[in-house]
Amino acid sequence: MKIVVLVKQTPDTAKLSKRMDGLQLSADGGPRIVNPWDEYAIEAGLVLAEKNKGSKVTALCLGKPEATEALKRAIAMGANDAVLISDSVLAQADSLVTAKVLAAAIKKIGEVDLVLAGRSSIDGNNAATAVQIAALLDMSMLSYVASIEAVEEGSITAVRAVEAGRETVSDNLPAVISVVREINEPRYPSFMKIRKATKAKIPIWGVADLGLSDGDVVPQVLWEMALPPSRNAKIDLINGTPVEAAKLLADKLMSEKVI
Ligand SMILES: Cc1cc2nc3c(=O)[nH]c(=O)nc-3n(C[C@H](O)[C@H](O)[C@H](O)COP(=O)(O)OP(=O)(O)OC[C@H]3O[C@@H](n4cnc5c(N)ncnc54)[C@H](O)[C@@H]3O)c2cc1C
Repeated sequence: MKIVVLVKQTPDTAKLSKRMDGLQLSADGGPRIVNPWDEYAIEAGLVLAEKNKGSKVTALCLGKPEATEALKRAIAMGANDAVLISDSVLAQADSLVTAKVLAAAIKKIGEVDLVLAGRSSIDGNNAATAVQIAALLDMSMLSYVASIEAVEEGSITAVRAVEAGRETVSDNLPAVISVVREINEPRYPSFMKIRKATKAKIPIWGVADLGLSDGDVVPQVLWEMALPPSRNAKIDLINGTPVEAAKLLADKLMSEKVI
């Protein structure tokens, strides 16, 4: 099987300050990590490759040159190779442009059976990239996958985590799937693989390498991004035993006409 895992490099939100200056989160070159959801996608790709001998896992990222670090992490976990797409015309890439570029790269890699992505990124958090790629490449789309049950004879069966519970679905390959945290526990890279990753040469493709023109990657204009104005909230603490507190709360909600 040929498996592509989408790996985004994101700011480390655990170490992020509250600043948000105009358009970009963490534009100050703060610490960057593999989008945590994508580690689950990498692990899912590696597990599938281990079950299907002769498979290959390629990690793919659109980002700045420093995003090679995220791809090296994927190689250290066990991916066979990686590709970075980086081009100055993509500096302002919006959601659709990002999907178009990643889709073109998947096409260029060729004969891909499965594309794995995280459920969303921790910075943009649109959860739209995988869906758009599936539409652009005319592939099946299975989102919020909590477990992959079977991949056989040109089809995939997976359990999706949906609001109402769990849903088991089957669809044809090639497919794009986005995964949720329940799917696995991402492995730690071994020392040997970290050494391999350090030495890995990661090709960098630009827009022209993907057969796209600058006109294909014109983004929408993002004028402003700002935090909502803060509000002064009033907090009433309800004391008493659980029974007394529940009664006081119910009285309050009724007097406010909430219930
Ligand atoms: C108008 C507009 C302008 C923008 N301008 C900029 C800008 O100037 N600079 C900037 O950094 N961002 C910009 N963005 C944000 C950028 O478009 C998003 O980062 C991108 O669309 C991915 O969306 P997301 O982060 O919400 O990922 P999601 O859709 O939430 O991600 C889902 C999954 O898709 C995969 N994925 C997502 N992005 C990538 C990637 N880059 N490489 C590999 N896999 C990926 C990952 O597996 C991820 O878990 C802009 C967005 C808009 C709408």
